[in-house]
Amino acid sequence: MDLGSVHDLAQLPTLDAKTLLDHIKARYHNHMIYTYIGDILIALNPFVHLNIYGPDIGARYNNLRFKSDMPPHLYAVSDSAYQNLCRTGNNQCCVISGESGAGKTESTKIVVQHITQLCKHESSALHAKIVQVNPLLEAFGNAKTAINDNSSRFGKYIEIKFNTEGGLLGGKISEYLLEKSRVVGRGKGERNFHIFYYMFAGLSPEQLKHNLLDKPEYHRNVGTTSGYHEERWVSTSGKTKHGSHKHILFVLSCFQDIQGILAILAAILHITDLEFEYDQDSDGVYIKDESIMELAADMLGLPAEELAESLISNVTDVRGEKMISLKNIASANDGRDALAKALYARLFGWIVRQINSLLKGLEMPGNCIGILDLAGFENFEVNGFEQLCINAANEQLQFYFNQNVFAWELEEYKREGIKAKDVKFTDNRSLLDLFLKTPLGFFSLLDEESRFPQASDRTLLEKLNKNLNSSKEFSCSSKSSQNQSFTINHYAGQVVYHTPGFLEKNRDHLSQNLFEVMQNSESQFVADLFSSPISGTGALENKLVLSFDVIAFKILPLSVLRDQREVGSNSKLSTLTYYTVILFPIQNSLTELMAKLLDAEPHFIRCIKPNNMKCADLFQPELVSKQLQYTGVLETIKIRRQGFATRIPFEAFMERYKLISYGLTESVLPTAKNCTNSLKRLPSKDWEVGKNKVFLKYWHAEMLNDLIREQM
Ligand code: ADP
Ligand code: MG
Repeated sequence: MDLGSVHDLAQLPTLDAKTLLDHIKARYHNHMIYTYIGDILIALNPFVHLNIYGPDIGARYNNLRFKSDMPPHLYAVSDSAYQNLCRTGNNQCCVISGESGAGKTESTKIVVQHITQLCKHESSALHAKIVQVNPLLEAFGNAKTAINDNSSRFGKYIEIKFNTEGGLLGGKISEYLLEKSRVVGRGKGERNFHIFYYMFAGLSPEQLKHNLLDKPEYHRNVGTTSGYHEERWVSTSGKTKHGSHKHILFVLSCFQDIQGILAILAAILHITDLEFEYDQDSDGVYIKDESIMELAADMLGLPAEELAESLISNVTDVRGEKMISLKNIASANDGRDALAKALYARLFGWIVRQINSLLKGLEMPGNCIGILDLAGFENFEVNGFEQLCINAANEQLQFYFNQNVFAWELEEYKREGIKAKDVKFTDNRSLLDLFLKTPLGFFSLLDEESRFPQASDRTLLEKLNKNLNSSKEFSCSSKSSQNQSFTINHYAGQVVYHTPGFLEKNRDHLSQNLFEVMQNSESQFVADLFSSPISGTGALENKLVLSFDVIAFKILPLSVLRDQREVGSNSKLSTLTYYTVILFPIQNSLTELMAKLLDAEPHFIRCIKPNNMKCADLFQPELVSKQLQYTGVLETIKIRRQGFATRIPFEAFMERYKLISYGLTESVLPTAKNCTNSLKRLPSKDWEVGKNKVFLKYWHAEMLNDLIREQM
């Protein structure tokens, strides 16, 4: 078969890593960036605008009878999700994964755009809103990184809701894992969130002055903005985006309380500019430049003395009595950073809530298509706490993926009375145990150690080593303990994590006195942002919360979810335990996300980055093959081959393949017997016929098409 001409690689007679790579490469060089492997869509990032988008092309994908009727596309996946939703009334979800810069967010936009176009158009204003919220989210949640000029520094799940007629009702965005530490520091060549640069480039001198902002280079966490507005990135709409002025005008036009938002952003910059010096008299610290602190206090509606106090001292509650202690330079720096991060995270949460109130409609009865855009598996030269959180979340997703691929298959076999061979797969359950078990899982141990004031990254490593070394997924040699590192064997490969900073990041919380100062702000906006201990819903008590960041995971055996999926009690799956994570104290728990995913029919989109140079027409085989491995694509193919990937109801089968053994005008009933007659003509006999459907292996589709061609 011609390399590159096969739209669905699952139909190839053999498919190993090399064949897969060869085909994807050939397709890529022919500008065919999308490829199916069974029901997974592989999407390569073209890094250049291709003429494969837009309403006209989109229209050709509407209401497809078979996905194979058109070349693979995100449009086809969107269409199939929408059709399934309308036909079955089941929730749908598109799980979009891949590493940074692979095209997840652009793909998400394309899917959202197409889905809102597919549905009935009476609510065109709402349609426009759902599409338009992106620039706003990106202004606050995206930044330039070493890898991606417009990298999302948060994960999101977008739900689009429809009534029973398929009409658009509304939408909702949930955000996860905002990388708020970016407001206080980032790697070389990386930038803070876009919004800060938009401010300097786009606000008038008066507006800047009003917010007491100086030149960008005077602020530690913006640095120079030069070159910023010249930077461009090409969007999938083909338009080159540039011009921070327009960006800021757009962002500001979305809100009524513009000044409230600008004040917080400015205050964050002032706060992160603060420096502390040792004070011999008190053995504490003092603020080097009081006037900067006063600016920040002013912007946040706080009495300057109170802010100063809470920045240089700690108040702890000891058996009902308030104890005041002075900070040293390191703890004052930490407190300052924690405040800036909390402000930004809460502002971001508020913005998402504002967006959601615009998109309303989720309360009404109906069904959802959800689209998940979450960072994929990461393995850098140095991996820290953030990578561990992302990778643990991905372990969860992989588990979910496995459950779906198998659970559904097994359920269906059972319903149809098909005897299927044992489906074997790499079960990553032991990794979930490693991370999530209580009290001796990774996150429990980390939480426990975070509670000891005397703990250090070294004691943490000892604790982990002592409790986890029996797990074959965890290793920490004496050499690596000297290097302060440990290794985890993830489903996608081995990752070495460096422990320095783990405890600090896990603890990272706003001290009680800083929190109270914010809560009592004269600015209603600021006070409201801090009205709940946790940014957002405030479901957990402050004391429970070890950090205000990504941080603490907790485990719940999800019998609830299992019930939802209604896996037959005799089926193999009932012996599996579902786990999930509460990723708190961020406002949206992954538990909730997993529950939503499990309640929906999934569509998997795996985004792949063909090169690290962000350039068109360059395919780096090693890079691609690593990503294919991380996304578990080959593994999935293996699984799919053992099962029956194509399941066609008798009627549809007859409609399509009648010609194989019957005349054109002959009337043939769609029965098991008649279908079997046609199937018997296949050269391979490993198909099955159930009660209502025929069960085919991937390679049968092409064979059937050949038989049809012979008849014509
Ligand atoms: P991720 O969200 O996976 O980090 P993005 O979706 O932000 O990656 O994509 C990174 C960049 O790649 C985009 O800014 C864009 O320039 C380019 N890109 C991604 N997908 C496409 C596409 N389908 N067509 C053209 N360019 C794309
Ligand atoms: Mg992204």
